[in-house]
Amino acid sequence: MHDVERVRELQRKLQHAADRYYQYDDPPMPDAEYDQLFRELQRLEQLHPELRTADSPTQRVGAAVQTGFKPAPHGVPMLSLDNARDAIEFQEFARRAVADPESAVFCTEPKLDGVSLSLSYEAGLLVRAATRGDGETGEDVTINARTIRALPLRLSAAKRAVPQHLEIRGEVYVTTADFHRFNDTRTEAEGRFMNPRNFASGSLRQLDPTLTAERPLRIALYTLVDARAHGMDSQWGVLEALKAWGLPVAHKWCRRCSGNAQVQQRFVELERERERLPFEIDGMVVKLDDLAQQEDLGFRARTPRWAVAWKFAPREEATRLLDVNFSVGRTGVITPVAVLEPVVIGGVTVSSATLHNQDEIERLDVRIGDRVVVQRAGDVIPKVVKVLVAERKGAPQAVRVPDHCPACNTAVVRDVEEVAVRCPNNECPAQVKCRLLHFASVDAMDIHGLGDKLVDQLVDSGLVRTPAQLFTLDHDTVAALERMGSRSATRLLTALERARTPTLARFIFALGIRHVGEVVADKLARTFGGFEALMHAEQAALEAVPDVGSVVAASLRMWFDDAANSASVQALLDAGVCPIAPTKVQSGGTLQGCTVVVSGTLPTLDRRAAEELLRHHGATVSGSVSSATSFVLAGEKAGSKLAKAASLKIPAIDEAALLKWIAGGRSPLQP
Ligand code: AMP
Ligand code: ZN
Repeated sequence: MHDVERVRELQRKLQHAADRYYQYDDPPMPDAEYDQLFRELQRLEQLHPELRTADSPTQRVGAAVQTGFKPAPHGVPMLSLDNARDAIEFQEFARRAVADPESAVFCTEPKLDGVSLSLSYEAGLLVRAATRGDGETGEDVTINARTIRALPLRLSAAKRAVPQHLEIRGEVYVTTADFHRFNDTRTEAEGRFMNPRNFASGSLRQLDPTLTAERPLRIALYTLVDARAHGMDSQWGVLEALKAWGLPVAHKWCRRCSGNAQVQQRFVELERERERLPFEIDGMVVKLDDLAQQEDLGFRARTPRWAVAWKFAPREEATRLLDVNFSVGRTGVITPVAVLEPVVIGGVTVSSATLHNQDEIERLDVRIGDRVVVQRAGDVIPKVVKVLVAERKGAPQAVRVPDHCPACNTAVVRDVEEVAVRCPNNECPAQVKCRLLHFASVDAMDIHGLGDKLVDQLVDSGLVRTPAQLFTLDHDTVAALERMGSRSATRLLTALERARTPTLARFIFALGIRHVGEVVADKLARTFGGFEALMHAEQAALEAVPDVGSVVAASLRMWFDDAANSASVQALLDAGVCPIAPTKVQSGGTLQGCTVVVSGTLPTLDRRAAEELLRHHGATVSGSVSSATSFVLAGEKAGSKLAKAASLKIPAIDEAALLKWIAGGRSPLQP
């Protein structure tokens, strides 16, 4: 697209977004996207100044005044803040602002996600409260602001003299808890608020002040207009003065930092604190603390040069839903997966997200081609949380979970107790692949090199359908596969060889029996001590195992009673897979009576294998060194445990010595 057209398009889009945001409290796009488009427009207008119109969104802060409130002109404009999206952009800001960011003093404050408000006090009395509006003129919401309980109508002169005229600015917000409490009481028809900020803005701008009074609004102040004229010399000093006058300040989360390194540290800390804060913040505002320096730097069109809003990585972005795939899991459950136009969320590129099930699809009313908001929280799978219905063109078809399995075309069944839809065909290629992948995964048989591409090839070519068939593969067959070669084949066969002797617990887990996770598998292995015993255990015996209830027990029984399953297990055993039973402590084991602590990385045994081995020979494994410890099995990077052992004069031995010992050699503990 031509720059001219793009500029016009951006101007139109942003203007529309700002109108919806400020006038109807209903933004059509997430903030992060607005910011991104805004920056693009700024950049293009810089390249082509002739395209920058007087009413371009870059030239204004917000939107026109809504009818209904008296206009409130701002003597000193209410500005916006430049954003920094990461540490580099913050450093760029710092370098632009001061010659030596290492030694400059900054005031850092949480960036409250609410609406800004400007308060005028005359002789200590609140006389006017005005919203930001377009920055030059806001709305007079004095009556509404008076209903905010935390806001003093009269300033306190007890700690500090109160000047005759004061203009103070801050943020009106709502706590997350109050926000949810309020939304929960609202019906669909009354309308719920999308987020705490819309709530704050909508509540403050009620034409009927009694409605505002019912809303749990709060306020935190952070700016004193003409602070130097009032004898202040730092932003930190301003915050203290505001507090002294009895105004609420978010001082608990404000810091005075010297040097940009401290600012960065504080940012990381605040981002961590974020989850536990009682209100939502979307970043940290960093201001040059020295007011004289602030004055020297001055302003750009709509932002000060001495402050920046360092934003947390957004965890929500809008993108387009390109398609919905249906993935068939190990147990046949069919999950709708959104195929998305790739989008970076919080530093990670996301191209798919879960839609959970049919109920969720209906709740969201999502259609192919829709613009959707995708959320990433922690490490969980991204999910689609909202559809931007206003942007929908035409009437695209609704999405439906298919009534036949997309992999094998078998008619699906709906589980009675769950909302899930499942493919009941045990031989379904999608299920077969998932079972193989699960079987090979790190916590199961741990077969290195057996990933999804290779599993696809093995299954699609008809070479492998069951786990047992993996162990019958030969070098040449594997090497002949696409993208494989002699070396990869050798590596896979070596991994398979190693996997022939799993612990019993891993083996049970690897079978992929419904409801049998690692913990349950471990308990079963300990209780039954061998696979035969487990396979033939009665329902009652299974239920007696810790962590195994009737549901798990029934699932196990059903699995073992299935002829195909028992054949598949038998085939594994026939192929030479030999699960190692956990030791019941055998009297007379070499390590009988020893209490052992493992520390550091051992040359060949991983932690689990080492502990298994120790127990197998009669030792008790403990996590911490005490006077009861017999010896420490130490590997590389054995740290504090080894030091503690030394201080208690407890011997340490290495893996080689242990292996020699249990193979029948002399005890390394004897002198
Ligand atoms: P923006 O509108 O995203 O450009 O950000 C500027 C807005 O951040 C200001 O107008 C304030 O409403 C808000 N804000 C929240 N906390 C602070 C703070 N501690 N200092 C300055 N502005 C803040
Ligand atoms: Zn199927």
